[in-house]
Amino acid sequence: MGALAERPPYQKFAVRVARSRIDGFGVFAEEPIPPRLKIGEIRGEAISVAEARRRAAGQQRIMIVEVSTKTAIDASKSSDPMRFTNHSCAPNARLQIRDGRIEFYSLRAITVDEEVTVNYGETHHEGRLACRCGAPGCIGKL
Ligand SMILES: [Zn+2]
Repeated sequence: MGALAERPPYQKFAVRVARSRIDGFGVFAEEPIPPRLKIGEIRGEAISVAEARRRAAGQQRIMIVEVSTKTAIDASKSSDPMRFTNHSCAPNARLQIRDGRIEFYSLRAITVDEEVTVNYGETHHEGRLACRCGAPGCIGKL
């Protein structure tokens, strides 16, 4: 319950971080999320894309998002739960980069306890990690 009280204003819906069947930890809805609404954001340290690529090199789990051709956000030390959002080839949410912000919006209604997933699109893994999302039509790699 403490997590709710400490929720920043940009985290619009209550979520929790828990073990995921997809990979490591994931983000799960703690309340129903209607379609096409902002779920939350990831905020973190703004760094250069060159620094982001240096930090990402050789890491299995990375929490860096490029928000422009020059700038990236390193969310490694962030407390925002959305940073644990897993990839799915059939996601129920989407990641939107706008004005240097990393925002998450629901694509459809998300039910309580459902894992929130997005399609990462282009990632630092460059197809070297296996995708285990289990969705029909899974492309099998990240
Ligand atoms: Zn997949």
